[in-house]
Amino acid sequence: MFWNVRKTVGAPVLIALVVGKAAIDGQNLSSSDHVEHALKVLRKLFGETSVPDPVAHVVTDWGRDPFSYGAYSYVAIGASGEDYDLLGRPVDNCLFFSGEATCKEHPDTVGGAMMSGLREAVRIIDILSSGNDYTAEVEAMEAAQRQLDTERDEVREITKKLNAVELSSLLYKNSLDGAQAVTREALLREMFFTAKTSACRLHVAKQLLSLPLGKWKSFAGSRAGLTVLNSWIIKKETKLSTKWIKK
Ligand SMILES: Cc1cc2nc3c(=O)[nH]c(=O)nc-3n(C[C@H](O)[C@H](O)[C@H](O)COP(=O)(O)OP(=O)(O)OC[C@H]3O[C@@H](n4cnc5c(N)ncnc54)[C@H](O)[C@@H]3O)c2cc1C
Repeated sequence: MFWNVRKTVGAPVLIALVVGKAAIDGQNLSSSDHVEHALKVLRKLFGETSVPDPVAHVVTDWGRDPFSYGAYSYVAIGASGEDYDLLGRPVDNCLFFSGEATCKEHPDTVGGAMMSGLREAVRIIDILSSGNDYTAEVEAMEAAQRQLDTERDEVREITKKLNAVELSSLLYKNSLDGAQAVTREALLREMFFTAKTSACRLHVAKQLLSLPLGKWKSFAGSRAGLTVLNSWIIKKETKLSTKWIKK
């Protein structure tokens, strides 16, 4: 992509952007290779004679610059919006952080950077005038609400699946082609290993207790199952898991 910034800077400057895989592949090219490539593209678009050689050029290499490792923030695998909040958290109410990487509502943008500056200005004024960090209080309330929403959605989803499996096993029972329905046990087993929130884990645990002991013990008592239960205990999520391990 090319940006003509002549109007903005008052000089004939053209910016070429390289993103995604092309940017990673291009990391091994020299600056002059990059310029050659850009000129080739421009000459193909506008004709050989319309595109003279540039009088100067600058090629950035942000992907390998240890002070940036990229052009702006992004949510990597395993990261989430919460990490933006963490980056924006003040230290001892005397060191404050703004910037697009602290604004999960509008990351990667000038708008986000500006809003985060305003957020921190308001925070500082609050702390100086009342001694309270109301911004942090609001963020904590929002985070708690998000957690509640996630838990409610997950429980709703597993309840839907359990109802569906019950209905389908009824239908399959009456079918003549001998087809097998997914069993409630198989579904609960899958949920046991994949449940993410405390509410959902508690719900699955209660449902599992309705199965005969041997059935759920075969997987909850396995090495993998005990690892799951251990992680529940570590997160102090449910006393049920402690009881189960004792069994
Ligand atoms: C190629 C590109 C295209 C973009 N296009 C758009 C667009 O079209 N629209 C849009 O809204 N946003 C766009 N963005 C994103 C936008 O530019 C950024 O989100 C925004 O500038 C971030 O502002 P910031 O204040 O968080 O950080 P920055 O603007 O990066 O400011 C950080 C400042 O801190 C300085 N600094 C760093 N380390 C130190 C240090 N140790 N000591 C002192 N100073 C230091 C840096 O030099 C820099 O001036 C684009 C970004 C890029 C790279």
